[in-house]
Amino acid sequence: MAMNKGISNSSKGIFRIKKTVLIVDDEEINVEILSSILEDDFHILKAYDGKEALDILISGEQKIDLVLLDVFMPFDGREVLKVRNANPSLKRIPFIVCTSDKNIEEECFRLGVNDFIKKPYENPDIIVARAKRMIELYEDRSILKEVERDKLTNLYNVEFFKKYAKQYDANFPDVQKDMLLVSPNRLRLINELYGRDYGDKILLAIAAELSEFVSECGGLVGRNGGGSSFFLYCAHHEDYASLLSKLKEAAKKAVGSANVSFRIAVYPFVDPSLDKEIVLGRTRATADSLGEDYAKEIAIYSQENQEKTLHKEKLIEAFPAALENGEFKLFFQPKYNIVGDNPVLSSAEVLIRWISPEFGFVSPGDFIPLFEENGLIGKLDAYIFEKAAGYMRCWKERYGFYLPLSLNLSRVDIYRPNLVEEIIGYVDSNGIPRDKYYVEITESAFVLDAGEVIPVIQKIRDAGFKIEIDDFGSGYSSFGALADLPFDVLKIDMAFIRAMDKNPKVKDIIKMIIQLGKTLDAVIVTEGVETMEQYLFLKESGCDVIQGYYFSKPLPLGEFEEKIQKEFVEHGR
Ligand code: C2E
Ligand code: CA
Ligand code: CA
Repeated sequence: MAMNKGISNSSKGIFRIKKTVLIVDDEEINVEILSSILEDDFHILKAYDGKEALDILISGEQKIDLVLLDVFMPFDGREVLKVRNANPSLKRIPFIVCTSDKNIEEECFRLGVNDFIKKPYENPDIIVARAKRMIELYEDRSILKEVERDKLTNLYNVEFFKKYAKQYDANFPDVQKDMLLVSPNRLRLINELYGRDYGDKILLAIAAELSEFVSECGGLVGRNGGGSSFFLYCAHHEDYASLLSKLKEAAKKAVGSANVSFRIAVYPFVDPSLDKEIVLGRTRATADSLGEDYAKEIAIYSQENQEKTLHKEKLIEAFPAALENGEFKLFFQPKYNIVGDNPVLSSAEVLIRWISPEFGFVSPGDFIPLFEENGLIGKLDAYIFEKAAGYMRCWKERYGFYLPLSLNLSRVDIYRPNLVEEIIGYVDSNGIPRDKYYVEITESAFVLDAGEVIPVIQKIRDAGFKIEIDDFGSGYSSFGALADLPFDVLKIDMAFIRAMDKNPKVKDIIKMIIQLGKTLDAVIVTEGVETMEQYLFLKESGCDVIQGYYFSKPLPLGEFEEKIQKEFVEHGR
C-alpha cells in the first residue's frame, strides 16, 4: 500500500505543527551545528548556559517539546536536570543529553535523562530521527494520561476505570470484589455557597483518602468526570463504616470546618462476567435509593431494592399521562351514623385508586407516599377535590340532596400557595354548601408541621369547610394540645379497633378518646370497623359515625350510586 508521507505522521496528530527544540550548549559552534541539522524539521530555541535554559523553560512562554542538553557548562546540565525533576510542569518535557563523555551517562540516567546523542555530531539523519521519536513517545504518554485521568484528581475517568476494573478481575480472579460509589452530599450547594475551590478541596481530600484505601486493600479508584461521584472497585469488605468515618474526617480537615455528609452505595460480590456498565448502573441506582435522606449514608444493593426503585421511577414517569387518561378513579367508602336505632348512610370518604393498563391496580399505599416525596400529590389531590365537588352537584340534581364527602388532604398540599382559594373555587363553582365538604388531615401532619399546618387549616375552616382529624391517637399529640387545633370531627385511628380484641384495656382508651372528643364538641368517627362486636361496642360507647368493612368497602362510583339509590330513594330515608 502506498503511503503518503505528508499524512503518515499527521495521522497521529502529532507533527502537524513544527515542534520546538531547545538547544543548550555553552559552545556556540555546537549550537549552530545542531541547529542546522534540525531546523528543517523543528522550530529551534537556543540557550548558552543552564541558567538561560531554565529561564526559558520556567517562563513557559514557549511550549517546548524537547531539550538537547550539554552537561559541562557554566551552569551545569545536571543542575538543570535537578530543577526539572522538582518541577512537575517540566517533567513532561523529554531531555536528551549531548555528550562525548561515556562516564557521565549513568549519572544522567539517574537524573531522568531520556536518551543520549554522541558528540561530535556525525550522522544528521539519526539525530533528527531520535529527536522525533523522543517527542512522539512523550506525546503518546501524556495524551494517554490526559484521556485516562480526571484533570482535578488525577484518578481514572469512568471509561478507563471500567477497562482497568476488567483487568483487575483478570489479574485477581480469586478475589471477591465490591463496586462502590462514593459521593459527598450536596456538593453543588457547597460550591455555590463557598466557591468552587472549596468544593475542589473536598474532592481532592476524598480522592486522596480513597487512593490510600485501595493502596492498602487492593483495587482501583475512578472519578465521574466533572461530577462529585467516585467509583471504587476493591476487595470485598464486610463493612464500610470505617471508610466513611475516614472520609468525613478527611473532608472536614481539608476545609477546616463543618461536617460533610456522604452517600456510599455498595454493590457487593460483583459477578466478573457482568458488564461493568451494568454494575455501575446498579451501584448508581443504589445510591439514588438514598434519596434526599442525608441521615442514612450507606446503602447496599439488593435485587429487591433495585426492582422497587425501578418500579417507583416508572410510576412517576407514568403519572402525567395517567392523570390525563382518567386512570385515577375516585372510590367512596360509606360512613354510617349510628346514633339512632338504625345505622344511616350519612356521608362517604373519597379514596383514590389507580387502575393502570400498564401496572394493573396500584394501591394508594404505594403511590401516595411516592407522590408526596416529589410533589406530584398536589396535582392529584387538586384533581380529586375538583371531581368530588362535581359528583356532589350531580347527586344533588339526581337525588335532591347534598351528600357530604370527606377528602384527604396531604401534608404536602399545605404548602401549595393558593390551596384555600382553589378549594373554595371547586366547591362554590358547583354551588355546594361549604359545610358539606369535609377535609381530612392526619394528626401527624397537624403535629409535625404545626407551625405551617395550623394556620392553613384554620383558614380552610374559617372559610366554612369542615375539618376532620384523621388517624387520631396514633401517638403524636398530647391530648392537651388538641384543644388548640381547629377541627370538627375526630377520626379514631384504626389501630385502636385492631388492638381492642387483643387487649381489653384498649376499650377503655377508646371510651376515653370518645369522651374527650365530645368535650371538645367534635363528632366522633371510628374507621376500620369490621365486626358486629366492634360496631356494638362503639355504639354503646357513644361513637357517632362508623366507617369500615362491616358496612362497606370503598366502592367505585357506580356501586356507590346504587347504594345511595337503595338507601335513600327506595327505603325513603
Ligand atoms: P386513610 O385516609 O387512613 O384511609 C383509610 C384506609 O383504610 C383506606 O385505605 C381504606 O380502604 C382502609 N379501610 C377502610 N375500612 C377498613 C376496614 O374495615 N379494615 C381495614 N383493614 N381497612 C379499611 P386505602 O384506600 O388503601 O388508602 C390508604 C391511604 O392512602 C389513606 O389512608 C390515605 O392516607 C391515602 N389516600 C387515599 N386516598 C387519598 C387521596 O385521595 N388523597 C390523599 N392525599 N391520600 C389518599
Ligand atoms: Ca382518611
Ligand atoms: Ca385514616
